[in-house]
Amino acid sequence: MGTIVCQTCNATIDHFEDEKVTVLYSKKCNCCDHEGAEER
Ligand SMILES: [Zn+2]
Repeated sequence: MGTIVCQTCNATIDHFEDEKVTVLYSKKCNCCDHEGAEER
C-alpha cells in the first residue's frame, strides 16, 4: 500500500494501491494549504 504524506506537517493525506510499501511526499495537505505555500 502506498501512502501520501504532507511534506510540511508529515500528516498522512491519502492512501493508494501499490504492490509495495511506498511513501510519497505531497506538496501540502489541506491544513497546510493556506500557509507557507510559496512553492509553485
Ligand atoms: Zn500538512
